[in-house]
Amino acid sequence: MPPARAVSATRPTLTAWRDWRSWPESLASLWRRSLRFRTILVTLALTALAILVACIWMALAIQNDLFQARKDQVLADSLRATQAAQATLDAAAVQGDSIQIQNLMTSVRDTLAERSSTDMIAAFRIDRTPSQLAPQNFTTPGLTEDVISAGMHDAVQSDPNQQWWQSVALPLTEGPVPGIIVGQQLMVPDVGGYELYLAYDLGGASQTLGFVQTTLWIVGISLIVLIGAISWFVLRSVTIPIGEAADTSAKLASGELGVRLPVRGEDELATLGRSFNAMADSIESQIKELADLSLVQQRFVSDVSHELRTPLTTIRLAADMINDQRDEFDPATARAAELLNAQVQRFETLLTDLLEISRYDAGSVQLELEPTSLAHLAEDVIGSMQQLAEQHGTDIRLVAPGGYSPVEMDPRRVRRVVRNLLGNAIEHGEGRPIVITVDSDQQAVALGVRDFGLGMKPEDVERVFDRFWRADPSRTRTIGGTGLGLSIALGDARLHGGELAVWSDLGRGSNFVLTLPRQGGRLRTPSPIPVDPGDDSIAAIDDLGLTQPITVLTLESTTDAATTRGGGS
Ligand code: ADP
Repeated sequence: MPPARAVSATRPTLTAWRDWRSWPESLASLWRRSLRFRTILVTLALTALAILVACIWMALAIQNDLFQARKDQVLADSLRATQAAQATLDAAAVQGDSIQIQNLMTSVRDTLAERSSTDMIAAFRIDRTPSQLAPQNFTTPGLTEDVISAGMHDAVQSDPNQQWWQSVALPLTEGPVPGIIVGQQLMVPDVGGYELYLAYDLGGASQTLGFVQTTLWIVGISLIVLIGAISWFVLRSVTIPIGEAADTSAKLASGELGVRLPVRGEDELATLGRSFNAMADSIESQIKELADLSLVQQRFVSDVSHELRTPLTTIRLAADMINDQRDEFDPATARAAELLNAQVQRFETLLTDLLEISRYDAGSVQLELEPTSLAHLAEDVIGSMQQLAEQHGTDIRLVAPGGYSPVEMDPRRVRRVVRNLLGNAIEHGEGRPIVITVDSDQQAVALGVRDFGLGMKPEDVERVFDRFWRADPSRTRTIGGTGLGLSIALGDARLHGGELAVWSDLGRGSNFVLTLPRQGGRLRTPSPIPVDPGDDSIAAIDDLGLTQPITVLTLESTTDAATTRGGGS
């Protein structure tokens, strides 16, 4: 099983922030990866919304309150002044004298100016018919007739005792200012009713309101910044331990079993740290137990195999001897001697394979490297297996466009791998031709063994490197394999830092590709020989010459064929 990789959260680098075009992507990535950034952003957005609503509400409430208070004050002021003016008018005895009435009106104006807190006063006679007696209408700067709406005129004229008010913009010399006009009737003896208007400047109140609103916004924005800073500090104290826990668990997952979390204090994070450490302790001890157990098992297999070797050698000698003399036995005994000899041979191979596997498990295999030409090695193996191939009526073809130059490898092991692959191809090749391809590139050399025999189902391909696994136990066997051949071959490929890949399709045959890196280390590039051969029929192969430097024809690959890769990890 490949070791689990440490999962580390990659953050956008500083250079990514320099280019403003990558900002949206960097921000989105920060949003996905950083809990702190996400929480601060959500906190700030919600706080800003809450503060905005509160500020607007407060500003409106204050505005309303200020206006209400000023309006009440203005109404009271105007009422007081109007009543004083009316009292002056009522007390006077003018008896149809126009001069007296004019004087009276002047003193009423003085009273109004004195008693009220405004000097914007206007009066208009209600009855518009010309009269010698009636004093003239008057207005003051800021309260001209066009400031007073027709509706206001109508309202004041409609009721002699009612006070009316209206919000207006007063055209003062410094520009229009917000104000209130209060209107009421004034009864002038012998003349009749006058509309009396007093205008009040609300500029002061609006200044106060502006000041209050500015203060509110400054306080609101400061609050948002403050809350952001506080959240950042508070979150730091939570996210730093969480980040530590994430890093530590990633290290644990990648196999560093000794890592632990620092535990500080008694809070929930300390409890998390303690639980995590307890879990890591338990995992470490269980893995150690399992490792010990597996070591014991490996030793047991190795010891048993070793122990069996000596008696088996004796049995083998005895069986050989008996087998050599089988012509002297009756037919039944001779057959038994033959069978005994074959099974003892099989037993010996199995024991050798078991010992080899136990050496892999113990990690005690050492490669004996020497520069070797893979193409020549393949020729050797083909030569040594020619007889077996002929027995099966199989034609072996070598296609080697590359792979002649020597590469550091353990030739004994690589030969064993090629023998195993070729043996399997002959065994399961149904007597059809087998094509061995050798090729190389700058990074690797590779050898492919392609047969056109039985092939395997996709689920069988998945298991082909498993120990003691065979696709179909009922398949007739002539070589008498142990079921360990491919797992040993995979072990050999991995020891070289290479890989052994397989493609197989039921009825279309199989293709095993061994790839070895040229410079040692690990394979980083695809194999020079594709594992999916892509050739669709033997006819394609029949067109190929025996040892000509050509690659296998590439036709369209099928989708139902299964491919598995072993090695490299
Ligand atoms: P063995 O050949 O000793 O049984 P291997 O590990 O070499 O063991 O192979 C495991 C199994 O994989 C074989 O039993 C066979 O069922 C299947 N197999 C291997 N090579 C081929 C092939 N070229 N074609 C079809 N099946 C194969």
